[in-house]
Amino acid sequence: MEPGEIKSILGGLGIKPSKRYSQNFLISEDIARKQVEAAGIESGDRVLEIGPGLGILTRYILERTDNAIFIEKDPHLAGYIEKKYKVDVICDDALAVEFPDVDIIVANLPYHISSEITLRILESGFKRAILMYQKEFADHLIAQPGSRDYSRITVAREFYADAEFIMKVPKSMYHPSPKVDSMIIKLSSREPPITPRDKDHFFKIIRLIFSHKKRTVRNALLSEAGILGISKPELRDKLEGLPHADERAFKLTLEELNDIVEFVYNIDI
Ligand code: SAM
Repeated sequence: MEPGEIKSILGGLGIKPSKRYSQNFLISEDIARKQVEAAGIESGDRVLEIGPGLGILTRYILERTDNAIFIEKDPHLAGYIEKKYKVDVICDDALAVEFPDVDIIVANLPYHISSEITLRILESGFKRAILMYQKEFADHLIAQPGSRDYSRITVAREFYADAEFIMKVPKSMYHPSPKVDSMIIKLSSREPPITPRDKDHFFKIIRLIFSHKKRTVRNALLSEAGILGISKPELRDKLEGLPHADERAFKLTLEELNDIVEFVYNIDI
């Protein structure tokens, strides 16, 4: 799809690419084809595409399966896809709609919702997802413990899925061109390598300690005493014996983080 063609379709639909909806459209058919190929769609697979936009991925998805679902927030684009590909599109916010039960997810994600939508995807029971992200966000997804990109989203990803780098996509491959390059990442779901006693509690404590990445785990927890519903001095006493207390959260493996969460779970606060 040449930028000229994209402009003319958008003009015909009466829309200007909206920053609020992260509307940057992929130009390269070659990248679109490779992205869909990487999904390894087989004929029985139920596939979800989030934000089909002008349908550059949609065409290749529909070549492989007729069991696909589309969620597009922009009603003009949803109508365009329905007409062009003779499919039904759920015209809604992918963060608000009930998440469909699918095997494979393919999307050039709206970048402003990368974090929330990735958490929804990870928790959804998917098998495989081939997702394009802004490079900076993708770096967080594939980060290793100890790197400055290792963050809360890395922990969530590590909990639910393996991540594999597929390819880098320069910003010039989009119209309009965004400020930064992109990356395609493959997520393959698998059993969590740890079994926290309470998953919600695990992610709550992870959120608290990663919101103070530069502090030691002990100090991060102490700064959140209020949220934990306990006074600081009382918490300090209860944290006596906390494993990895003097480490920073981003240096710890999933197993070590789970040791911390288990300890907090057991101190009765
Ligand atoms: N798939 C197209 C492509 O590769 O050219 C468009 C990708 S563009 C980065 C993101 C798409 O997601 C746009 O079509 C936009 O309208 C849609 N979108 C934005 N926010 C959304 C949301 N919350 N739920 C569903 N779709 C959304």
